Amino acid sequence: MIENQSDIKDVLKGSSATTNPLARTSCVILQPIDESNYKKTIEKSVPFNLIEKRLTKEEVKKLKEIYNGVSPQVWGITDTKRTKVSYKDMQVGDVVLFNKSKNYFAKGVVTFKAVSEKLSEDLWGTLEFKNIYFIGWIESINISNIMMNEVIDIEKMSSNYDYPLFGVRVLKEKQSQAALDFLDIENTNPFVEVSANEFEEAVRLNIEGSLDTSTNSKGRVEQRYLRNKLFGKRLFEKCACCGFDYPVTQLYAAHIKKRKFCNVEEKLDTRIVMPMCKYGCDVMFEDGYIGVEAGKFKKLKNNSLTLTTRIEELVSAIEGKQCSYWTSDTKSYFEWHKEFHENK
Ligand SMILES: [Zn+2]
Repeated sequence: MIENQSDIKDVLKGSSATTNPLARTSCVILQPIDESNYKKTIEKSVPFNLIEKRLTKEEVKKLKEIYNGVSPQVWGITDTKRTKVSYKDMQVGDVVLFNKSKNYFAKGVVTFKAVSEKLSEDLWGTLEFKNIYFIGWIESINISNIMMNEVIDIEKMSSNYDYPLFGVRVLKEKQSQAALDFLDIENTNPFVEVSANEFEEAVRLNIEGSLDTSTNSKGRVEQRYLRNKLFGKRLFEKCACCGFDYPVTQLYAAHIKKRKFCNVEEKLDTRIVMPMCKYGCDVMFEDGYIGVEAGKFKKLKNNSLTLTTRIEELVSAIEGKQCSYWTSDTKSYFEWHKEFHENK
């Protein structure tokens, strides 16, 4: 039985310090680009029919699961003694920073790796870039080489940071950490799996009121496990409410019954959450504008809420939609939600 904070620390030190998935960080990959190749397979994504011809059935199956039918973005590196090692070091979940003209201009996350000379030839007209990796969550950044070189020079060995990136580099752990901190990216690999035991331990240790769920490490383990259950390795998923596909980064794993009212058993039930988009569905459900009754979304009788014309529109667009997360196992959570909001 855990009585207080210092006991929690002891438990963490003892049992989960070595298995804590948060200890596994993403590495940062510095990737110089050839502009015409970048245009071909990153600015424009690569249709699945091209990929299908060149990768194994198993590889294609995994990729399709990740991308949910959306065409992926692809990059490839050469096979020299040095780049081979970089490719081997590279892991799914690592953060790639793309570089041209002494500037890091985009970042993304490695989602999958596959070696294929044929695919390299199809994509870039040469067998050279056979060490291929797939990328997701590409976003613009704007960081000069001078800045980045200074950030990753942990030992401060250099005095002049104005030098180019000569080839692909996978940064070591400390340098990766410094770069991720600088970019304000969470250092955890989004593809790291949390075991059921780690999840259970995190939920049981996360004593109500003593810690903030969203920011403490146990809260993150809990969230990550629930998200893994909902999204797997997919980059896109449907919102449970409006039914549209969104990048999973724009979906919450939202508790049907408010988390703070759940007992431990309910918190451990992974069916307690469903994907809700950040474009309004999450707020409408969380604040109690809408609920689910007999498997269908409906407007709740909730007098304490403000209803503007726009909110009315949003609510009526959802009303009557089927909720695929409503089952005999989750019914009681939805009933709790409706009851809670209609009797506020
Ligand atoms: Zn939605």
